[in-house]
Amino acid sequence: MKIRHRLALLFTLSVAGVMLLLYFVIYYYSRDFHRSEFADRLSARVDLTEKFFLEESRLPPDLARQVREQFLLKLSEEKEWLLSPDGPLPDSLAPFLAGQLEGLPIGGEIQFLDHHRQGLARIYELDGRHHLIVVTAVDEFGHTKLANLQRILLVSLPFSLLLVGLIGWLATRRALKPLESNLTRAKEITASNLGTRLELPPQRDEIHDFASIINDLLNRLERAFEFQKKFISNASHEIRNPLTVIAGEAEIALSADRPAADYRQSLVTIASEADRLHQLVNSLLSLARTGGEGELPDREDAAIQPILEEVREVIEKKYPNASIRWPEVSSDAQLSCNRILMRSALTNLVDNACKYDPSQQVIVDIHQQPEHWQITIRDHGIGIPAEEISLITEPMYRATNSRSFPGQGLGLAMVDRIAHWHNGHLTIQSTPGLGTTVTLDIPRHG
Ligand code: ADP
Repeated sequence: MKIRHRLALLFTLSVAGVMLLLYFVIYYYSRDFHRSEFADRLSARVDLTEKFFLEESRLPPDLARQVREQFLLKLSEEKEWLLSPDGPLPDSLAPFLAGQLEGLPIGGEIQFLDHHRQGLARIYELDGRHHLIVVTAVDEFGHTKLANLQRILLVSLPFSLLLVGLIGWLATRRALKPLESNLTRAKEITASNLGTRLELPPQRDEIHDFASIINDLLNRLERAFEFQKKFISNASHEIRNPLTVIAGEAEIALSADRPAADYRQSLVTIASEADRLHQLVNSLLSLARTGGEGELPDREDAAIQPILEEVREVIEKKYPNASIRWPEVSSDAQLSCNRILMRSALTNLVDNACKYDPSQQVIVDIHQQPEHWQITIRDHGIGIPAEEISLITEPMYRATNSRSFPGQGLGLAMVDRIAHWHNGHLTIQSTPGLGTTVTLDIPRHG
């Protein structure tokens, strides 16, 4: 069942419950009110009967009968009895009064109900003797009023419920309309129109929040999708280039008989391009590993000094002429990290600093902060254009001013992921022509 129908039904049932309760209370109190009102009138009739019998002895019998008929038979189907409380009771009264009169004081009353007939009995005293006066009558007026009320309530109930149901249905339909139109819109979103967004209703309600969450999700998906497309196009470009060179070189070498030196030259080119391809594939694999959804690699409390030593060894071999200032780190300084990933991240950063700084004047620093280690690598190289800084951590993105340098644009993407893995982050500050400072903040205790 749709939410709209469910809400309308729930609303109607709740209102029906409340209305039934209200109707019941109205009917119950009206009936009670009529009964007590009629009981007052019966009591007045008993008063009259009592007074009449007190006066009867002093009136002539004819006058007494006349007065009695004029004043006492006023209520509908009224009947009266003047009895001795100790004597036998008539059959019609016995079920209501038998056993109840004992101990009833003078003036004490008993009220009873015989179907529609209401009765009242009272003890009074005359000349030292106790008498029982009983008056019963039917409250026709009250019953008619109650029957009318019952009819009004019963007739109005289904109509009111119908109206409430209709109002509930219309109200929920109106409230959920933005959701329905957004559902239709969402069904139409495919990979080819990821730019479509859900409509945000003017009121800031749950539907508005939900639509804006879905829109945010679509923004992220669109970005990821765009990024994938760009990545695939960059990757295929990078793979195609060395393959074209290898195929071209082999074709030229095979097209005619050539001196051995030419073949050697071709093989050198092919080997170098194959090596480039090899490095590219390795980098792509490492990136895939760091970007995977699988298990995180183990972390340990690793000493920083040996990691820096390993980085230094690799870099000094690759850039023997570079002038790098390495930090002094105490041998017990530790970092909660995965050693291999951390070494790879730092090697990448120092390698970039040497590569993009023709003077190769690089400073590596490490500072202990209260909660984390701050590692900075500063160079005085070509720098990065401001508008490209946010893009260079995307796989295969290379800044426009660095295309003449060798590289594949995968290193920083990997470092960024490694930093995230360690709950740290990578910050890049750079001024074109002046140099770049890359800061890696890694929590000390994971
Ligand atoms: P690669 O260096 O192989 O191209 P990276 O992912 O390491 O790939 O770097 C991405 C891009 O960021 C580089 O192509 C370059 O444009 C820019 N970059 C990174 N480090 C520096 C740096 N220290 N100085 C200038 N540009 C840099």
